[in-house]
Amino acid sequence: MSDQRLKKYMENRDFKKTPEPKATIQSLDESNRFVVQMHQARRLHFDLRLEVNGVLKSWAVPKGPSMNPQHKRLAVQVEDHPLEYATFEGIIPEGEYGAGTVIVWDRGVYRNITVKNRIEQSMEQAIEAGHITFLLLGRKLKGEFALIRLKGGKENNWLLIKKNDEWANPAYDSATNEPQSVLSGSDYKI
Ligand code: MN
Repeated sequence: MSDQRLKKYMENRDFKKTPEPKATIQSLDESNRFVVQMHQARRLHFDLRLEVNGVLKSWAVPKGPSMNPQHKRLAVQVEDHPLEYATFEGIIPEGEYGAGTVIVWDRGVYRNITVKNRIEQSMEQAIEAGHITFLLLGRKLKGEFALIRLKGGKENNWLLIKKNDEWANPAYDSATNEPQSVLSGSDYKI
């Protein structure tokens, strides 16, 4: 069964041609997975995906996440992806949407810690308000991050910022540090 929220995902792809997963409904549970995929498409970029109510809310981050709190990384919100996408690695064929190589650059769990006016916010509320604060527990990315929607301009444009905590590391930039997959160990040129 397909999910209306995944309509755009389905429309963008020809599943006879791409090895990417089809959209299916998953049972709703309390898990909060995150994944960052390194995607060597026309331009290399990183896709940050956070599990929210049975889909992966997704942002394309051209320069990739950084552990340096001084960096404000553009993160363009894109269509929701199915949960199965969290483990997808492979080659999207030439001529298809997002053609190129995808690896799972990092994965783990996240925790939404967004608070507004001293009240805890759900992920839906945080996304709606354009300000999400969350903890990542991945193999590479750890600690507190924020996603903040830019005012003015395109409403899909957000900034991804590492908070200055014990995990912050000005020397760590994903575009150059540890390019290997955390699933297969392969680098993005597979
Ligand atoms: Mn992508």
